[in-house]
Amino acid sequence: CAKQNGRDNYQIFEPAMAQLVSKNIIYENEMRQNLDSPQFYLVYQPKVCLHKSNVVGFEALLRWAHPVEGLISPSDFIPIAEESNLIIEVGEKVINDCLAQLYEWRKQGLNIVPISVNLSGKHLMSNELIPFINKQLSYYGIEGHYLEIEITEGVLVHDIERCIEVMAEIKSLNIKISVDDFGTGYSSLSYLKRLPVDILKIDQSFVQECDATEEDRQICATIINLAQNLDLSIVAEGVERQTQLDVLKSMHCEVFQGYYFYKPMPVEKVTALLSLLCQPTPQEDVAALVSN
Ligand code: C2E
Ligand code: MG
Ligand code: MG
Ligand code: MG
Repeated sequence: CAKQNGRDNYQIFEPAMAQLVSKNIIYENEMRQNLDSPQFYLVYQPKVCLHKSNVVGFEALLRWAHPVEGLISPSDFIPIAEESNLIIEVGEKVINDCLAQLYEWRKQGLNIVPISVNLSGKHLMSNELIPFINKQLSYYGIEGHYLEIEITEGVLVHDIERCIEVMAEIKSLNIKISVDDFGTGYSSLSYLKRLPVDILKIDQSFVQECDATEEDRQICATIINLAQNLDLSIVAEGVERQTQLDVLKSMHCEVFQGYYFYKPMPVEKVTALLSLLCQPTPQEDVAALVSN
């Protein structure tokens, strides 16, 4: 970049860069204007537990179907939202939509399972998060344990005291906290010990090669061991093959996410999946209900 090319270099004003900056500004404005439109919607990726041979939860992942550019990845639009307070609006939309969806499924008589949402550090640390969650939980009548929060590791190191405080409030609502992409950030183990987190999600970059390279296999084993020692749960994300699953199972990892099981799916498919998981009411019970 400009710095590498010398002190008196003004490449920062290169047209390509200016174009990128203005594109980000355009995206930010478009996001702000359309966040509540159908352009933005959630897909849900199941978390699978082999013991219970069951779907034990979902992760909500945001999608932006841009009218001109097509589907834009959250890896591209979330960083732009994070540059301003827009990321708080994004987080609130996701929380609200998940709770509204849980309310809807419950109304349909389905057995609901917890949904995790990805929140930015800025939102976590803001004063707005806890009152908002509180308000929405009671609005939809959903118990806190049906909501989980995923936070990437990097967030945790900025202001540990504030982090502990907020997480304690989250815990008091019975909401579980996951550390997402674990192993890629720089959170020290002493921080991890002090924070009231419940779950470590092994980053998919380690899972990717855990059946091929010894280093990655060891990293997975170390993270799983650490979780066991700290009494935390483990989720392995990005599982794509049986051979990865075999390695992780041999390390006593129990919850998995990845294309091998399910890709992130639209709400209609989740509804269908939940209907299958639901125990059908025995016929005689139905008859008894009708005759009473
Ligand atoms: P993440 O939270 O670590 O989510 C996992 C990502 O891995 C998702 O990508 C998911 O679709 C993808 N994935 C799941 N299984 C597999 C697999 O087996 N193989 C491969 N190659 N990929 C898999 P996605 O949906 O593109 O999201 C990317 C990131 O964007 C997320 O990483 C999360 O950090 C962020 N993100 C997504 N939705 C939201 C949101 O609503 N709010 C915030 N703040 N961030 C979000
Ligand atoms: Mg996540
Ligand atoms: Mg992740
Ligand atoms: Mg990620």
